[in-house]
Amino acid sequence: MAESAGRGKKDKVVRVDFAFRRELAEKVEGNLASFCYQCGACVGDCPAMTYTDDFNPRQIMLKVLYGLGEDLIGDESFLWECTNCYNCSERCPQEVKPAEVIISMKNMMADRGMYPPGVEKVINTFLAEGRTVAMNPAIDKNRARFGLAPLSPVPMDEIAVLIGLSDGEGDEE
Ligand code: SF4
Ligand code: SF4
Repeated sequence: MAESAGRGKKDKVVRVDFAFRRELAEKVEGNLASFCYQCGACVGDCPAMTYTDDFNPRQIMLKVLYGLGEDLIGDESFLWECTNCYNCSERCPQEVKPAEVIISMKNMMADRGMYPPGVEKVINTFLAEGRTVAMNPAIDKNRARFGLAPLSPVPMDEIAVLIGLSDGEGDEE
């Protein structure tokens, strides 16, 4: 009986996934998550927490510290519920920048082709137009109402170089 209870405890041992942590550390400048001391200051003003029970930036940072990549990265990841508002980063006394840690994990998912349809739409719009929102006549019409000039054309050739789709050499001789 005692032996089986002991085995149960052993099954619950958390093993740090160092491969996940190494991959994340390459994305986040300075391996920021390592400085989290779990104070919870990032939780107070997080808008994502108001509409979901799954989401908690302190818990996310704890999972990052443990290297629990499988809980964070996946097809149905709750990390996409983060609004990128940066409230957590402004509150964090350790300058962990949880928002940037979460964005880096979103990038890790994007590298694996895992993102929700809404994000895919933004990616496709950006690749086609260099903007995250598709241009339409209503945008310039509304800008004119506020006395703003029409938006300038986007230099797609420069964007192609920035995102690695072109080496910038073009057809020049
Ligand atoms: S505020 Fe910073 S140190 Fe505190 S739990 Fe959040 S990420 Fe960690
Ligand atoms: S950036 Fe994300 S995790 Fe941070 S407060 Fe905003 S919604 Fe919450």
